Amino acid sequence: MVKEYKLFIDGRWVDSISGKTFKSYNPANGELNGIIAEAGAEDVDLAVKAARRAFESGPWSEMAPSDRGRLLYKAAQKLWENLDYLAELESRDNGLTINETKHIAIPASIDVLEFYAGLANKIQGETLSSPKNRLNITIREPLGVIGAIVPWNFPIMLTMWKLAPALAAGNTIVIKPSEETPISVLELARLFQEAGIPDGVINVVNGYGHIAGEALASHPGVDKIAFTGSTDTGKLIMQAASKNLKPVSLELGGKSPNIIFDDANIEDAVNGSLFGIYFAQGQVCAAGSRLFVQESVYDKFMQAFVDKAKSIRVGNPLDPTTQMGPQISAEHLGKIEKYVQLGLDEGAKLVIGGSRPDIGLNGNYFTPTIFENVSNEMTIAREEIFGPVVSVIRFKDEEDALIKANDTIYGLASGVWTKDIKRVFRMARGLKAGTVYVNTFSMLDSAAPFGGTKQSGFGRELGMEAMNMYTETKHVWVDL
Ligand code: NAD
Repeated sequence: MVKEYKLFIDGRWVDSISGKTFKSYNPANGELNGIIAEAGAEDVDLAVKAARRAFESGPWSEMAPSDRGRLLYKAAQKLWENLDYLAELESRDNGLTINETKHIAIPASIDVLEFYAGLANKIQGETLSSPKNRLNITIREPLGVIGAIVPWNFPIMLTMWKLAPALAAGNTIVIKPSEETPISVLELARLFQEAGIPDGVINVVNGYGHIAGEALASHPGVDKIAFTGSTDTGKLIMQAASKNLKPVSLELGGKSPNIIFDDANIEDAVNGSLFGIYFAQGQVCAAGSRLFVQESVYDKFMQAFVDKAKSIRVGNPLDPTTQMGPQISAEHLGKIEKYVQLGLDEGAKLVIGGSRPDIGLNGNYFTPTIFENVSNEMTIAREEIFGPVVSVIRFKDEEDALIKANDTIYGLASGVWTKDIKRVFRMARGLKAGTVYVNTFSMLDSAAPFGGTKQSGFGRELGMEAMNMYTETKHVWVDL
């Protein structure tokens, strides 16, 4: 029997006011995952009001920070106990392989929750130097109601990046998951409730971006919008939030350069670059989708890179031997195919892939794809494809690499492979990106800030920096 999922508002499972629903399908096989209550603006309004009540007058607002932290640790324990369940659910929702959900995305999400649980009672203001007859202090206070709008590529993880610091700081939250992946975040909310998080602190309103997302972004009762998604949507979010001047943090798209110098350890660079582009089926904001290879090592690197890419096993994401699962939707698959055609039309050489694999499965599968003879001006080197397609570009020397790498509207991540320590720091300084990976790619750490520059957005999630995004400084001036 097909499961039905409701909205989660004020600790209760409710139908939408309109009674509308939408369907959610498994991208691996087209099966119906569930029928989902679809929030409209009125439902979002109810959720925001519930979050406001919980913030102003519920047990959450009365709670000592250490007790809040303890509850978050309890929730983390619940999630560890349900790791297998969440991993499979996430995989069915969005097509990540079971290895990616069970060993990377879900454990990393729980790690983030534990990180912020520990910070709940360590939020500090300052005592400023003042004359003897005066005391100047600052207090860091929660903002209030946070609106979190998340994409489909890592629903639980990208929700947690917002939920955990927001709650640790004492805020409450309304989450709008992607319409492509509405289920796993609902289950996350259920587990938090079971762990004892009070009613109204977490609310989940599934629905479409231009309806429920827009309603949340423009709602006057929301104190901040934390958004992860595409750059185009980020611009709409900013416009909507500007109606009542609420702050926004935007984690947006990318076209990250990954640069292989001729003194790199080639085996490591090949493995890291494969992970950099094909992890999560290429549907990663930080993906190293522009691969710059120094001319002097080009043939050697490419031979190993192409050989290994060819051997990637594409298939059912629940099979533990599968290395690459399906793309999120048939529509997204069509978009990737259009980019492949554009690459060919613009004169790039298709080395491998570019098609749907013949694996007898009724899902949105695509083969690992490599283009070479790409110039930085081609569309496939400029626009975010968000799939398993890498554009390989040659470069001469460090200066050439830096100019080409920075020649993009994006600035999320970047990678450098070299053994030259001085070059490491020159490149780390020179690359315009929120993260510079050196001799690795796409690593994350709960303590390390993550975010972009240029049109990849602004604000930093994770680490201590995120606490600043979910608290506000109040200055208290005391005449003595
Ligand atoms: P998307 O922008 O289409 O949607 C993201 C979310 O915004 C969804 O929940 C959607 O319903 C909602 N939305 C859509 N239109 C809206 C509107 N007008 N008002 C309010 N909300 C609206 O992105 P996607 O396709 O779900 O995700 C892929 C994109 O996310 C890629 O561009 C990727 O680079 C980016 N991303 C960035 C990061 C990061 O940390 N920088 C991480 C993951 C994904």
